[in-house]
Amino acid sequence: MMNAQTPKRELAEGHKPGHKLKTGDEFKATLDDGRALWVAGKRIANVFADPALSAGVDLLASMFDDQFDPAFADATTFIDETGAVASRSWQVPRTKEDLADRRKMIEYTSLKTAGTFGRPPDLAPAIAVGLLAHLPTFKAKKSLIEGCSPDFAENIERYVAYGRDHNLTASESLTGPQNDRSSPKGAEASLLKVTKVEPDGIRVSGAKTVGSVSAQANEIFFTNLGGIRETPAEACIWASVPINSDGIKLISREMVSHPGADPFDHPVARLGEEADQLIIFENVLVRKERIFNLGDPTAMSYYGPVCVFAHWHVLTRLAVKAELFVGAGQLVLDVLGTSHIPAVQGMLGEIIQYAQTLRAFITAAEALAKPTDGEVMAPDVGMLTAGRLYSIEEYPRIIHILQELCGQGLVMRFGKAAFDNPEIGHHLAELLPGKGVSAAVKEQLMNFIWDMTSSSLAGRVALFENVNASPAPRLRERLYNEVKRDAFIAQVKTLAGMP
Ligand SMILES: Cc1cc2nc3c(=O)[nH]c(=O)nc-3n(C[C@H](O)[C@H](O)[C@H](O)COP(=O)(O)OP(=O)(O)OC[C@H]3O[C@@H](n4cnc5c(N)ncnc54)[C@H](O)[C@@H]3O)c2cc1C
Repeated sequence: MMNAQTPKRELAEGHKPGHKLKTGDEFKATLDDGRALWVAGKRIANVFADPALSAGVDLLASMFDDQFDPAFADATTFIDETGAVASRSWQVPRTKEDLADRRKMIEYTSLKTAGTFGRPPDLAPAIAVGLLAHLPTFKAKKSLIEGCSPDFAENIERYVAYGRDHNLTASESLTGPQNDRSSPKGAEASLLKVTKVEPDGIRVSGAKTVGSVSAQANEIFFTNLGGIRETPAEACIWASVPINSDGIKLISREMVSHPGADPFDHPVARLGEEADQLIIFENVLVRKERIFNLGDPTAMSYYGPVCVFAHWHVLTRLAVKAELFVGAGQLVLDVLGTSHIPAVQGMLGEIIQYAQTLRAFITAAEALAKPTDGEVMAPDVGMLTAGRLYSIEEYPRIIHILQELCGQGLVMRFGKAAFDNPEIGHHLAELLPGKGVSAAVKEQLMNFIWDMTSSSLAGRVALFENVNASPAPRLRERLYNEVKRDAFIAQVKTLAGMP
């Protein structure tokens, strides 16, 4: 897979020479493929032409390079069944130990982006693995669209192998564009639909929305979420297409990061962002080998089981981020000299409670994991959904507490240029030192917390956390529908003496 121009890097010790990994440069080369991309209303030549998208790609590329670094080899790679080294993103967990190993990759990508990328390279593969986890179910399903009847199970297996063999990245969009939710016509209009059947596959038209990271990935993995009972056959699709397919237009939202900023001023926001896109499909060819369901509405109700690994990813990333909030909070207490105040300790205690609780949900979901019908080890969905609900309900409060712990320091930040300016820098240095740290170091901490809690990047991330994998009302509905409570009812009946 390495081409002649790419400097070869040694694989980590213990890895066999055969590998299926891309370097960062090889990954970047795959993105310069003629994809049709608009930013701020203008068509741009490629993803590197926008500073925020480009910085985000650099961050993603560094994750590819890390696969060759012994320090990250265990977290980012595994030995596949052919004996070759492959990305852990595509590992199929068959045992609880595999789950724990796969989680290392989630923790790695979460730390690498300080939790600001909800769709790092290992997120979309978790959905493909979710399909694989229900292979017998998809094997039994038949296409209801005349003229195109692929074997869904074969396609799923082939796609997971292809993704693994090519160190593929994908975005995923399951949601339709937002319009009048009270109108059946609106609901119909936001579905992506089959317009034509051809020998090579199907043509689809419509749109998908907030496909985070689409402009910075190789493929888009999609279905039509919602309208489960009413979804017409021509909109019942699980499939994947390359982002540069003819007929796809990517329209980016406004950028919110600070690419190229001094690392002192914006340690996180300088790393760019995963941008969200509206993705227009105009008669896009979906090859028949990339179709995982077609026309069968019963397969659409598999959103929950198929996305269980992605939702485990979402919760794990939030736990990693919560631990960063704990670390940042403790540093604030240390540098402001407030750690002796019981009320302040109590505020940090709430952040610690949040982080510990998220870890507990993940531990429980993995401990209660069970093999699926496709013999993949799946975390417990009841624990995941309850954990995800708690994680998003408490998120705004945790951000608020962290901001409050910082006091004026979170606003009174002046930037590296001010510290370096001989006329004013010495005032800052004299007036603003922390406990045992210089004013500049204290500001570095505040700048990190600003990027994580209060910047425009943090605003987008907070909105993302709240709804990206279903907003709270839908999660409550899922708990009601999915968590069994017969045993509890029986206990109450016994205690109450009810028949
Ligand atoms: C920054 C960001 C990134 C995202 N990235 C992705 C992505 O990569 N892939 C992807 O597939 N999706 C992504 N999402 C989209 C996410 O899946 C949707 O926002 C979510 O499913 C809610 O749908 P909606 O926004 O269309 O809300 P709407 O359907 O327009 O509803 C608005 C609000 O009304 C309430 N509501 C509506 N219907 C119901 C109902 N039936 N029950 C209870 N409450 C209801 C909810 O509070 C909801 O938030 C992203 C969203 C954001 C903001």
